[in-house]
Amino acid sequence: MHKILISACLIGEKVRYDGGDCHTHSPIIEQWQQQGRLVLLCPEVAGGLPIPRAPAEIRHGTGAMVLDKTANIMTADHNDLSQQFISGAEQTLTLARTHKIKLAILKEGSPSCGSNYIYDGSFTSIKRTGSGVTAALLQRNHIKVFSEHCLIEATAFLNTMGS
Ligand code: SF4
Repeated sequence: MHKILISACLIGEKVRYDGGDCHTHSPIIEQWQQQGRLVLLCPEVAGGLPIPRAPAEIRHGTGAMVLDKTANIMTADHNDLSQQFISGAEQTLTLARTHKIKLAILKEGSPSCGSNYIYDGSFTSIKRTGSGVTAALLQRNHIKVFSEHCLIEATAFLNTMGS
């Protein structure tokens, strides 16, 4: 049975920067949970950041650019957290490889977990197209990433893998 990596906050773990969660109540996720498929992780906590923590955004770039060291991820008061975010991404990839994971469901919009959009670094709620740091590293390593808004598409992908 194929395992699925999932952002811990989507399952209700209170690991967000503000100490809350993003619990997503979905029959698809509940079925995967009952099947024992889900592997939970919060990359930012894995990278050593506390709960709660200051919000951070990628300045002038994307998660892929943070991995390539051509952009930084900063708090609003200019604290550079790039190394912690990269460490969290690397630990997520290691966990995914341990479980032979090919599919991840990651929280949209996060500077770690976003897969379609992130925020632009201005802390003014402006979105930009791109992936967060962890999503970008998983994608580079041929792990398919879907957001919590694309569970039907994720199910179709899982079916192509032969469950
Ligand atoms: S890093 Fe990912 S798993 Fe952790 S709180 Fe943010 S969105 Fe959720």
